[in-house]
Amino acid sequence: MLKKVALLFIGISCLLSASAQKIQSPAEFLGYQLGEAFTPHYRIAEYFNYVAQASKNVKLVKYGTTTEGRTLMAMFIASPENIGRLEEIRNNNLRLAGIQQSTATTTTPAIVWLSYNVHGNEPSSSEAAMATLFDMVDPANAKTQAWLKNTVVVIDPCLNPDGRDRYVSFYNSVKGATPDPDPSAREHQEPWPAGRTNHYYFDLNRDWVWQSQKETQARLALYNQWLPQVHVDFHEQSYNAPYYFAPAAEPLHKDITPWQKEFQTIIGKNNAKYFDQNGWLYFTRQEFDLLYPSYGDTYPIYNGSIGMTYEQGGIGAGLAIITRLGDTLTLADRIAHHHSNGLSTIETTSAYAQKAVTEFKKYFDNSRANPPGDYKTYVIKNDNADKINALAKLFDRNGIQYGYGLKENTVTGFNYFSGKTELTAVTQNDMVITAHQPKSVLLNVLLEPKTYVADSITYDITAWSLPYVYGLKAYGVKEAHQPIAPSLNLPKKAAPATNAYAYICAWQSVEDAKFLAALLKQKIRVRYTETPFEVNGKKFAAGSLIIARAGNARPDFNAIIAKAANDFNRDLTALTSGFVDKGADFGSSNIKYIRPPKVMLIADEGSSSAAVGEVWQFFEQQLKYPVTIVKYNDINQLRLNEFDVIIFPSGKYNDFPNDKLQGWVRDGGKLIAMENAVEQLADKKVFELKKKEDKTSPKQDDTQVERIYENRDREAIRSNVAGAIYKLNIDNTHPLGFGFPKYYYSLKQNTDIYELLNDENGWNVGTVKTDNYVAGFVGQKSKGKIKDGLLLGMEKAGKGSVIYMVDDPLFRDFWEGGKLLFSNAVFMIQ
Ligand SMILES: [Zn+2]
Repeated sequence: MLKKVALLFIGISCLLSASAQKIQSPAEFLGYQLGEAFTPHYRIAEYFNYVAQASKNVKLVKYGTTTEGRTLMAMFIASPENIGRLEEIRNNNLRLAGIQQSTATTTTPAIVWLSYNVHGNEPSSSEAAMATLFDMVDPANAKTQAWLKNTVVVIDPCLNPDGRDRYVSFYNSVKGATPDPDPSAREHQEPWPAGRTNHYYFDLNRDWVWQSQKETQARLALYNQWLPQVHVDFHEQSYNAPYYFAPAAEPLHKDITPWQKEFQTIIGKNNAKYFDQNGWLYFTRQEFDLLYPSYGDTYPIYNGSIGMTYEQGGIGAGLAIITRLGDTLTLADRIAHHHSNGLSTIETTSAYAQKAVTEFKKYFDNSRANPPGDYKTYVIKNDNADKINALAKLFDRNGIQYGYGLKENTVTGFNYFSGKTELTAVTQNDMVITAHQPKSVLLNVLLEPKTYVADSITYDITAWSLPYVYGLKAYGVKEAHQPIAPSLNLPKKAAPATNAYAYICAWQSVEDAKFLAALLKQKIRVRYTETPFEVNGKKFAAGSLIIARAGNARPDFNAIIAKAANDFNRDLTALTSGFVDKGADFGSSNIKYIRPPKVMLIADEGSSSAAVGEVWQFFEQQLKYPVTIVKYNDINQLRLNEFDVIIFPSGKYNDFPNDKLQGWVRDGGKLIAMENAVEQLADKKVFELKKKEDKTSPKQDDTQVERIYENRDREAIRSNVAGAIYKLNIDNTHPLGFGFPKYYYSLKQNTDIYELLNDENGWNVGTVKTDNYVAGFVGQKSKGKIKDGLLLGMEKAGKGSVIYMVDDPLFRDFWEGGKLLFSNAVFMIQ
């Protein structure tokens, strides 16, 4: 304590002589020492606002707000010489990357970006962010002021304020007069859904490239204007674990450069120096790999940075906890470790600033001149304008350049869907992407048909190649070509004629489902056709929406249709007669009325919060259609017949399906079971679904590893499916398959598979036979299991139905192809 006071006095005397500027430390500002309490987000924001006023060497950028209305911010800190020319430094940096044209200088500061608290219940890092900010702006701190001579520092104190406050509010609400370090105390047992994720239970450290969430969209817009040379993502892990920092573990993506690996090691060694001095334990090169492109380390790496994850032990530790070894780990300890590594990383960046900038330029020079990967051009067929638009939006958000059309009418390339090299025609509306561009590494990571995995013990999914994710036909071409047009020049969709007998809308993408949802909310009656029809020379596939004047006798009918068509950019066909040329007339029994469903989503402690969040978010933010979220146990008190659809996301549910649910289904309800929820319906003799036996004999498995202790992790992954892509055969004449070709690329994250439904009540809509594996890691034990079975189906039960979705169609909101599948389940099956 004495020592601290002495230091404080020295600090103040230096400060007074050096400048009149006096900046309060976090402790002075907050009224308590960091580590004595968890600081709620608004107080962190107040401290950052205060420093923005008090220091001349910072610029605070408020870059967005969260769903719950909290402010997202990043503080830029630079020397007195550099703070006034931040914009010049930023533009020069983008010129170094070749993103902006004209000559750049390499005599420019390196940029180091520190991101804190992306997982809300890993809260020590935001506290450390305040300590690090203070050191960087303290005029009396000669060391940090020297680093700023050649370094610009960016501090984002909290990437996930909603999640952080969910944790901090919980902890403060159960903490006693003094913290209880006993791990069994309730203050260490965070309730469902916990604070790790954002408002919609999305893991923001899986969302960098997809940018499905508000926080990520806002942050990446700012990040991509800067592209720092160094980026750190601060986390916490199990409180029994020592600290982890770079260098990272295998598998490393093969596009990671020698310099990126080398500088990770240089930074790691400097971090280690301080840990050694203090006697703190740490580990490197284990557990945290660099593969999946949507993390706070890999995304920066695939964008030219040295991206790193730092992990302090601390989840659930509260203000103090007794670890397995019997030591007491305090919040102050956790802050000290993150604080030390934040400063140490800035120090190393400053020591290597010139080299970091030169290597950054080299990375992007190489990206443009020698792009990685087998293909120098990608051609994406424009078979579905909505999907092409969605892909274009993803590329825009990530600064990936693309255009349309080729000079040549044909091109030879690798067909992602057939797996063969073929000649294909190219139209002016097809998307063409050249690999010779600044973001060619990220482009390759996202588009290579298969990700090479040197070591399959990884943290996440191993397949995400975009043609499969979007269900878009694509060709990888070895030769370099340039697109001929920067954008599609399509005529604006004509407003639909008024006074039509009926309007027809195709059913091909989630955009059509959004249009339908908008009409249903306005009580417009909509039908769909179960069979294809042809009228005035135009063909309409099964699933096409029919909005007839019949049943919609209201004065605002034309206006509502016109507005919705415009809002959702739908190309409606207006018909003057219901008499079709081929197929069923609109009064036929093949034309089904879509009853606007009242939808319930089950969300309970047994549910996977991520799975709940995906469905919740999809209804609210995409379909914009109401959903009522209900706790599982409460259904016994509810009048279920007020609901048409009940969705069970992945989870474990007791006594499922109970008598009440079974009765509701037989009376006409539609139950949608997803992932683990499907498993619990199987083999219960309530419905017909049966789990498939694994008939692979141990003899057939010739890949066994010797069963010795050292091989234990490797033995375990032999039955693993680390997120792989399978091609499902789709019965697209069934409403659950409407809008699809005869296939759908599904993300398989487990080995679950079911027997084909073989009575008259069951429909096998999505199945696999023997050879439907496409990409991604599947352990040898599991390879033989995922074949000849059901992955997507429907079973009639009484007047109602049960829909089985074994794989997650809404995975992290980026699995674009699955959104129509889920919409079919909600709207199309009556
Ligand atoms: Zn984390």
